[in-house]
Amino acid sequence: MKLNERGLLVVMSGPSGVGKGTIRKALFQMPENNFCYSVSMTTRKPRNGEINGVDYFFVSREEFEQNIHEGKLLEYAEFVGELYGTPLSYIEQKLSEGKEVIIEIEVQGALQVREKMPDAVFVFIVPPSKKELEERLHNRGTDNASTVAQRLAKAEREYPLAYKYDYIVVNDDVYNAADRIYAIIRAEHAKTERSIQKYTKLMEGKE
Ligand code: 5GP
Repeated sequence: MKLNERGLLVVMSGPSGVGKGTIRKALFQMPENNFCYSVSMTTRKPRNGEINGVDYFFVSREEFEQNIHEGKLLEYAEFVGELYGTPLSYIEQKLSEGKEVIIEIEVQGALQVREKMPDAVFVFIVPPSKKELEERLHNRGTDNASTVAQRLAKAEREYPLAYKYDYIVVNDDVYNAADRIYAIIRAEHAKTERSIQKYTKLMEGKE
């Protein structure tokens, strides 16, 4: 039994190519989970096989800016020349339904979420080594050489900000990494500040 009934917002960041998407898929296969994934909005073009509304909401820059002006994004940031942002209404609805909402965003956006939703849990995913990250990005074959170089340069700037996160998880093995994140989520639910209210009501016989 979980004393905290509200869902957790889990913010995952980490350099491009570290395997955030694969870890997320492994998380969704964990038994008895009630995770949901918040699909981001982006101005970047879809990669081969990416589906609108599943991987991202692919929009024009005008449409993205319209969403910013209407206050519909929890956060947004520019990454390697493209805009990325998190729609707010989906997150609020799912958290109130008691679902764990996973978002995968870069560091500047995560820092905005830290300000706006301090109750969220922040996980920074790192590769086992820099060499491995370079190999993964090159082998992924989805970006040209200059974009890969920009993504690696971006990773160099992001590493020093890992200290702003609550947890650092090494992606040495996808299932191990997902398992650690699942353990973090369960432990975070049991934290006294999230559980005390319901616990007190139970003990007072009010529930
Ligand atoms: P990609 O182009 O590889 O799909 O994503 C590039 C970067 O943008 C990744 O670090 C990814 O986590 C981040 N990203 C994806 N969605 C969002 C979002 O909604 N907001 C922010 N700030 N970053 C995002």
